[in-house]
Amino acid sequence: MNLFDKIAYSGKTKIITLPSGLKVEIREANGADEELLSNNSAALNGMNLVNYIASVCKKTIEGPDKNFLIEEVLSFKVLDLYYATLQSRMLNFGNLLEFKDICQNAQCAKELEITHDLEEFCGNLEDPNYKPKNEYAIKKYPTSDTHSVFTWMGSEFRFKHLTREMEMKTLNIPATESNKNTPLIARELEAKKDSEWVKLTFFSMFSAKQMAELRRKVAELDPLFAPYIEVICPHCRTHQLFNLFNIRDFYYPGESL
Ligand SMILES: [Zn+2]
Repeated sequence: MNLFDKIAYSGKTKIITLPSGLKVEIREANGADEELLSNNSAALNGMNLVNYIASVCKKTIEGPDKNFLIEEVLSFKVLDLYYATLQSRMLNFGNLLEFKDICQNAQCAKELEITHDLEEFCGNLEDPNYKPKNEYAIKKYPTSDTHSVFTWMGSEFRFKHLTREMEMKTLNIPATESNKNTPLIARELEAKKDSEWVKLTFFSMFSAKQMAELRRKVAELDPLFAPYIEVICPHCRTHQLFNLFNIRDFYYPGESL
């Protein structure tokens, strides 16, 4: 069999549990998947990861209809999407991420060579008592429901967990209109008033201190993933953080320009 007898490369597969509890099967990416990830026009509207994950992930149900629709991936909770992306990278290229960058201390600006084990961001999400191994590791959603409900100041509140689609909407809000409470509005925070849910679009009834508490409650129930790599420059000892998803070698190892 020669190269052109094959229609598509079919490589390794792996079943993973995502932070919401959703199980998916990911397969090693091929050249066509890479095109989805690197498509420039999709990058502008944030669809790259959605298209890529819809291509390399399958449902773990019985039967032929295992592909995810684009709309289904858009409604993935954000941690699920990012964790699937991380697991896919590890399946394609292994656990070690090697990259070069410039020290962020302008006085130093020496080249840094960094190697990081991506396992540091992972964990056994099947474990009901799962605890992240460090502050940058993946967190698990306390519930697999789309909403979280909590009682605070004698009232009942509920909100939707952030999905990729909601996240993309917040990214499109102009900086002048975005503020600390945009994430609450994006999650469609509601409070119960006489057994009816009322959407909260303004927060003037709360003190600043109460708002901080409210945001903390929401963040606990709907955590975000902060996969930073901590690096101390060996030349000037400056401490710096690199966001995994902004590192080109994470997606395309060894192809830094
Ligand atoms: Zn330095």
